[in-house]
Amino acid sequence: MITNLAVEVDNLSGQRLELCYHCHQCTAGCPVVGAMDYGPDQLLRLIALDERDTVLPARDIWLCAGCYTCATHCPNEIDLAAVMDALRQIAVANGYAAGERDALLFHRLFLSVVRRLGRSHEATLLGLFKLLARAPLLNDLGAGAGLFARGKVPLLPEWSGRASAEVKRLFEQSAKK
Ligand code: SF4
Ligand code: SF4
Repeated sequence: MITNLAVEVDNLSGQRLELCYHCHQCTAGCPVVGAMDYGPDQLLRLIALDERDTVLPARDIWLCAGCYTCATHCPNEIDLAAVMDALRQIAVANGYAAGERDALLFHRLFLSVVRRLGRSHEATLLGLFKLLARAPLLNDLGAGAGLFARGKVPLLPEWSGRASAEVKRLFEQSAKK
């Protein structure tokens, strides 16, 4: 039986959840399943049962790293990263609090940094996040210093006018939709 939540997710994500036959391959390969409440396979089952109040506050939808491992494992080519994106949109639109503390703040800050700089900049994002989430400022200092020293994270953001204009255009297109 196709339920309302399944239809909403299908429409938003462009996927066909009814193809899922719960082989568990997606969950077996997911790198963050240990921190999730249910895992991708069980989440799809809950969507099929229209368990909105269980699915939409779940930590799973905020912890998904969008790594596409599940999509490459799925015999039916269901893109669970797109499904998680759709679930986040539905959760926010319907006023469900993010199941993972400060996850929504992190997502908003990430988009704000990309919008302004035309690309992500980890140091800016982390600094803003720690300030606004009132997280301890210095507890990642050791790991951060190593990344700076190896040139993995630039201290100052790079700015490209062309990239910034292109990203701005994408944000405008998205807002129109
Ligand atoms: S791998 Fe695909 S078919 Fe198997 S449980 Fe996951 S989504 Fe469903
Ligand atoms: S895209 Fe999300 S659900 Fe799929 S394997 Fe990666 S983290 Fe897990």
